Amino acid sequence: MPRPISATISLPALRHNLGTVMAQLVSSSVAARRTMPQVWAVMKADAYGHGLLNALGAFGQAQGVAMLDMNEAVRCRQAGWTGPLLLLEGFFDPADILLAAHYELTVAVHTQEQLDMLLAARPARPLDVFVKLNSGMNRLGFAPKDYRQAYGQAQQAQAAGLVRHLGKMTHFACADDNHEATAAQIAVFNQTTDGLPGSVSVCNSAATLTDGLWTTLTGADSQWVRPGICLYGASPFAGVSADALGLRPAQTLAAELISVRTIGVGDAVGYGYLYTADGPMRIGVVACGYADGYPRHAPTGTPITVDGVRTRILGRVSMDMLVADLTAVPQARVGSKVVLWGRGGPSVDEVAHASGTIGYELLCAVAPRVPRLVVQ
Ligand SMILES: *Cc1c(COP(=O)(O)O)cnc(C)c1O
Repeated sequence: MPRPISATISLPALRHNLGTVMAQLVSSSVAARRTMPQVWAVMKADAYGHGLLNALGAFGQAQGVAMLDMNEAVRCRQAGWTGPLLLLEGFFDPADILLAAHYELTVAVHTQEQLDMLLAARPARPLDVFVKLNSGMNRLGFAPKDYRQAYGQAQQAQAAGLVRHLGKMTHFACADDNHEATAAQIAVFNQTTDGLPGSVSVCNSAATLTDGLWTTLTGADSQWVRPGICLYGASPFAGVSADALGLRPAQTLAAELISVRTIGVGDAVGYGYLYTADGPMRIGVVACGYADGYPRHAPTGTPITVDGVRTRILGRVSMDMLVADLTAVPQARVGSKVVLWGRGGPSVDEVAHASGTIGYELLCAVAPRVPRLVVQ
């Protein structure tokens, strides 16, 4: 028998979450009397750990899908996705341009090096291109002072038949928690792209779920939003739960108790003896550790559910095991079901918060050795 641990991926939850996001876009577009933005469902990193093809199957309502990796893009095409497919970092060498043309991909272009490669390329058919602006995050994109010239070069490529649709994009650094900083990025974007033709793509999950934010972007009538994390049922906002946003967990990490014992006052638990009992208590060993993707930094007190009862972990997380407090679960025994996060357990955001990270990292990090079960 394999170790009793699994990650269950719920396709109905993925569909529900996309539906929730799209319903919100419908209502904000009606309120603003604007054309509704189209959605690139972001599926990078193997769909945030949910499996690329699982997500592709569930996100059929999205107008487009977005990722980073050429191999992932090709897998989506081979699986039958014929709609728009955006490579968020664009191409890395000239051979990628030919592949992007062959597979009819849309590419972000964020450096002069990419523009030079594009202008020198002879792709079999023109590419769709979004020219990326660095509106403040200082990660990818042309500086505002260079943007219009870069856009002009992309327009030359368009005139030369190398580019079909041309658009403008940027990325927010603080859409989850700093409205002023985001407003400043919007101002830079609107000012820099003013009057340039083409559609607009700016909003990640946090911006997409901030009511009406997308309508403040110039060119809101032809816009693509790029939600990722919310589609997987985690919250992009530190202070707002996914549940409160109407989202459902799409990934559930579950395991079982493989050993149960009673310890007494002064007895310690696990590596480093980080937890010491101050009275007699029952504890259970869970078949999940950091080699499965559970965060090693999760401290005593991190929530966990045993036999449907919410309790906490104790002491240090080991490679293959961790320990749960069974004080509140007297019926627990070897074989009892444990939910580390997801449906029937704490949210991935709660576990992440306790461990000093974000749900994104935990969802992506479930190890290959953990078997995936897919709920259709
Ligand atoms: C990852 C990513 C997104 C999606 O971000 P979420 O916070 O997961 O919604 C959008 N745009 C770009 C460029 C990204 O890299």
